[in-house]
Amino acid sequence: MYPASFEYVAPATLEEALETLGRYGDDAKVLAGGQSLIPLMKLRFAAPRVLVDINRLPGLDTLVEEDGLRIGALVRHKTCERSEVLGGRWGTLGAAAPLISDPIIRNLGTVAGSLAHADPQGDWGSALLAMDAEVVARGPDGTRTIPLRELFQGPFDTSLEPTEIITEVRVPDPGPVAGGTYLKLERKVGDFATVGVAVHLSMDDGRVGRAGIALTAVGPTNLRATAAEEALAGRELTDDAIGEAARLAAEAAQPHSDTRGSADYKRTVVRVFTERGLRTVREGIR
Ligand SMILES: Cc1cc2nc3c(=O)[nH]c(=O)nc-3n(C[C@H](O)[C@H](O)[C@H](O)COP(=O)(O)OP(=O)(O)OC[C@H]3O[C@@H](n4cnc5c(N)ncnc54)[C@H](O)[C@@H]3O)c2cc1C
Repeated sequence: MYPASFEYVAPATLEEALETLGRYGDDAKVLAGGQSLIPLMKLRFAAPRVLVDINRLPGLDTLVEEDGLRIGALVRHKTCERSEVLGGRWGTLGAAAPLISDPIIRNLGTVAGSLAHADPQGDWGSALLAMDAEVVARGPDGTRTIPLRELFQGPFDTSLEPTEIITEVRVPDPGPVAGGTYLKLERKVGDFATVGVAVHLSMDDGRVGRAGIALTAVGPTNLRATAAEEALAGRELTDDAIGEAARLAAEAAQPHSDTRGSADYKRTVVRVFTERGLRTVREGIR
């Protein structure tokens, strides 16, 4: 199907983009990689009057380790996949990047666009939740930061105003001894997750300082497995501690049965992936 007709604006500055969004409010949509918005428009699930293409805005394509990690709004999945920065302490993100869809989507889709789209099956949502990330949003009243746990309100629903643009994703520094991974079950390469589990650990003197565990495709949003995280904090990464965290992560999942699998099956995958992810991180940190 063809999208409904719309006006296309390609501003040269952020101020111009914000001014256009302010003028049209709910009738306008930001266009980044277009990998979610354009399909929705073609299916007529979305019919914005105006598209504000941010691809020409300067300075938004930087992926840099600086006071933590900063991921500009135009950083593509591909850039993350190829980045040498996203190993080691940022391993959760490095593991997630190549698992997002296929190379064509990864060439164009952006990390920030994925978060703004708030698909509970999105992989970045979990990887970045596990790492306590936040987005920086510019709007008519200035700039604010929104932690991801407050950004995701429900399926495809965020706390962003229609007049706001995410300019950057910020991930706090996880400390010197840290690591993580992302595991995804998909029916075939390029598919959305049946289940995904993001794991991140910051270690402190041989014990877990901070644990981040987040789940994909088993709830109305990407979910934090908070009880599992708390159960690990302050403990050594023994098999018992890992097993308990995996059980608690499975309890936190809210899966539904569908064509990808039964709710029980998905819950079991969460437990197995959490355990596997934590063991992998333990090996990496050693
Ligand atoms: C066939 C297919 C398979 C896919 N598989 C996966 C997968 O396995 N895993 C996965 O995680 N994703 C998958 N995706 C989604 C893909 O990752 C998208 O690229 C991503 O969800 C959206 O990023 P985008 O830059 O393309 O955003 P767009 O499509 O341009 O925009 C998406 C939404 O976010 C808003 N938006 C975008 N950027 C901003 C911004 N800076 N500030 C404010 N609002 C903004 C737009 O207005 C729109 O509402 C798939 C998509 C397709 C079509």
